[in-house]
Amino acid sequence: MSPTATPPNGPRLLAGAPIAAEIRSRVAADVEAFRSQHGHPPGLAIVMVGADAPSAVYLRQILRSCRSVGIEGRLVELSGRVSIARLRREITALNADSLVSGIIVQMPLPRHLPLSAVIDTLDPAKDVDGLHPLNAGLLTLGYEGFLPTTAHAAVELLKRSGIPLEGRRVVVVGRSNVVGKPAALLLLREHATVTICHSRTRDLAAHLREAEVVVVAVGRPGLVTGDMLRPGAVVVDIGINVVDGALVGDVDYPSASRVVSAITPVPGGVGPVTNALLMSHVVRAAQTQVAAAAGRRAPLTPVGKPARPRAGGSR
Ligand code: NDP
Repeated sequence: MSPTATPPNGPRLLAGAPIAAEIRSRVAADVEAFRSQHGHPPGLAIVMVGADAPSAVYLRQILRSCRSVGIEGRLVELSGRVSIARLRREITALNADSLVSGIIVQMPLPRHLPLSAVIDTLDPAKDVDGLHPLNAGLLTLGYEGFLPTTAHAAVELLKRSGIPLEGRRVVVVGRSNVVGKPAALLLLREHATVTICHSRTRDLAAHLREAEVVVVAVGRPGLVTGDMLRPGAVVVDIGINVVDGALVGDVDYPSASRVVSAITPVPGGVGPVTNALLMSHVVRAAQTQVAAAAGRRAPLTPVGKPARPRAGGSR
């Protein structure tokens, strides 16, 4: 991808809705097949701790998605003052419930509840949002496991939009365990040349100006502006921020859209794909659990295109 100017009609909008619809229709067929074979649909338990308003909106969207594809969504509402022991007991009960195929715990958790308490308790086979170290390890080593859904969505959106990644210079801004780091690993799996930037990075703009593809997951509105981007770059904005009551990303859309060749909208970019992919993870969890219960343990499966050594090592 050589740098090109922004198309005369503005950048290509990498909308999530059509990709999400495609994923959901496949998932709905898989759910139906599972239900007719096993007499019940795959199930997703959503543990919500405290009544955090933005989380509640997100959870309603997930429950709507569950209904639209036939997955049994179950909301487990706990008080914001719930003890670690009680939270653990709830997760342990869901681990043991054969009608629950996947479990997600809505973040952020109240301060007194360390994420490690959740991760510690969650059955990796039901960890459909890829939080557990076992799944993180599988991702790191290149095996099939549950991927953190948002990171998965960002990369899936690029792939399904036909954006080439192999050999491309990609900058990921943000290195959280749930978004930035897994996104970088997935991009590496696609053979991109990946740089990860974070709060201690010196001269973020210098890194960004080199990037053909930029993925931003920080949580700071307007952090990335058009003057920091390479002409013709492709931008995936994962950030979700509320500014004056409106949802905005981490990228300053007005200035970026004068420079880039393609960009995700916020809202309407990564979000819908995240939601649809979560459904697909639940179905896979259900299928894997049924197979394991029947004594068919899934072998470690390598994923991604194998590395292809080239004479000279670079091009
Ligand atoms: P975290 O707060 O966990 O991580 C933020 C990352 O950004 C950190 O790695 C931090 O660096 C880095 N960072 C902070 N300030 C800067 C800066 N000035 N320059 C460069 N890097 C910086 O957030 P998450 O990863 O959980 O979420 C990121 C964003 O993605 C949020 O806006 C969140 O709302 C959104 N999100 C969107 C989802 C979707 O479906 N679209 C789902 C989940 C999240 P350091 O590590 O050094 O602190």
